[in-house]
Amino acid sequence: MEFYVTFERAVELITSQELTLPFQQVPLFEAAGRVLREAIVADRNDPPVPVSAMDGYGVRFPDVESVPSRLNVKGVVPAGVDKPVEIERGEAVKIFTGSVVPDSVDLVVPVEWTEEREGCVEVKKSFQKGANIRPPGENYRKGQVLIREGTVLGAPEIGIAASVGKPYLKVSVKPKVGIVVTGSELLEPWEGFKSPVQIRNANGYILYSLVKEAGGEPVYFGIVRDSRKEILKVLSEAFETCDVLITSGGVSMGDYDFVKDVVKELGVEVLFYKVQVKPGKPVLFGRKGNRFFFGLPGFPVSVFTSFNLFVYPLLMKIQGAAEVFKPRVKGVLVEDFKRRKADRTEFVRCGFSYSPEEGRFLVSPLRRQGSGVLSALVGKRALMVVPKGVKTLSRGDSVDLILVKGL
Ligand code: AMP
Ligand code: MG
Repeated sequence: MEFYVTFERAVELITSQELTLPFQQVPLFEAAGRVLREAIVADRNDPPVPVSAMDGYGVRFPDVESVPSRLNVKGVVPAGVDKPVEIERGEAVKIFTGSVVPDSVDLVVPVEWTEEREGCVEVKKSFQKGANIRPPGENYRKGQVLIREGTVLGAPEIGIAASVGKPYLKVSVKPKVGIVVTGSELLEPWEGFKSPVQIRNANGYILYSLVKEAGGEPVYFGIVRDSRKEILKVLSEAFETCDVLITSGGVSMGDYDFVKDVVKELGVEVLFYKVQVKPGKPVLFGRKGNRFFFGLPGFPVSVFTSFNLFVYPLLMKIQGAAEVFKPRVKGVLVEDFKRRKADRTEFVRCGFSYSPEEGRFLVSPLRRQGSGVLSALVGKRALMVVPKGVKTLSRGDSVDLILVKGL
């Protein structure tokens, strides 16, 4: 076991784990958020033939070089008709968005630049050859790799899969992620207080939604009291059925912090315990066979940050994702930042906004940085990275921002 590792080492120990979950076929309606485990290749050119990009009139270029020009309307080409009307000089064909463009047509004049009367159309503006015609292969060409293996599927990717004729996609199975919350002081949100020192369990719900966002299937095991025996019972049961098991609380140095002892009893090889980060120093990471274990701290802010920094990359990695980290962008500090000690990498909770004038994110650290101050994470928040060894930052300094909640 490595003790009190740097942030970089912790990440290395996590992302170097060689394990990829099996894959399954899912219908497109269920593919959003899943990690693709095959490459998607174009089965044909798209569009397959030249098609009109506008509603209007197909014409020959010499007929509209000088305008206004009057042309005979020879016929109509509705979308989906594959034997279009051909035209001669002095003629036009009425055409619609997506209709096949006849070989004899050089360009499409949009309807707003025309006026049709008594079988003739007046063209009021001239256009280049090829105007408003989508050439074959404009979207993609046959044989082109359109989506790489390891891509997290979103709306455009699913649309592409549909357009290349794939009703099912090969994706990673969802990692089953067990969640166990420890703490004798905890109550579920629906329970009544029996004593004023009880607090409500927030972590179980934070973790549940984070697991879902990371493509996992959360399995909630509820609250376990700070008893070695009970923790052992629940963890051994939970560990049997899950790919990844996460606990919150009970992993520090207190007399009632039993998680690390119990984990060893379960036969888990602890890869690291404690990381040089703030918040969330007492994080434990271990592995037993093909199962992983994360012991996260109890403070809700620590749970949120350490999930994003450590659990998220592992979940992405075992799903076969090409990109396993939360997005990082550059930002600029709008005020000075100071801290008393520089012994750890700090992930400072901050507000941010994009400045179009400066072309970058403006970052303002929040006043309330306590690990128990979950209320400060509500709304548009990100984590500013303050490297180990850095004590002060000045207004105007460039900083790394981790977009843990998106934009
Ligand atoms: P621990 O690491 O177990 O000592 O917990 C650290 C702090 O986080 C204590 O103040 C706990 O009451 C609090 N805490 C632990 N678990 C939860 C939870 N599930 N929801 C909200 N707060 C918690
Ligand atoms: Mg506790």
